[in-house]
Amino acid sequence: MIAANWEIIAKVEPRLADLDRLVQQAVQGVADDDTRWCANSFFHSSIKPFIRHFVGWGRGYPTQEARPPGDSWKPITFDHYLNGEEDKLRRPATNEFEEMLRTPDAYDLVYERLYAHLPGCRSCSCM
Ligand SMILES: [Zn+2]
Repeated sequence: MIAANWEIIAKVEPRLADLDRLVQQAVQGVADDDTRWCANSFFHSSIKPFIRHFVGWGRGYPTQEARPPGDSWKPITFDHYLNGEEDKLRRPATNEFEEMLRTPDAYDLVYERLYAHLPGCRSCSCM
């Protein structure tokens, strides 16, 4: 299997390269004296929700179809997971690059790379 490295990831999943550039641009707007800045809050609310679709365990599932407003809640039962229903939705990996993108190593690499772009927390109490 191909070992996870950023140069290959950026080529085979260009949306992650786009996200990488977006994060670098976005944090340039964080003022040095902004005491409200919280790297963890920004990362978990604004970056992580995208990463999980492109790399790691969350990759390979089809995009959900839009539902009418007010009809967006769908109960999922424990049996759904016990019976492997979730896994049946996942497309199989058809090449070694796709397999690499689905590894925890690739997820961790992308997570750490994008997090490293963020200025450190200021006066928040998240730590
Ligand atoms: Zn913080």
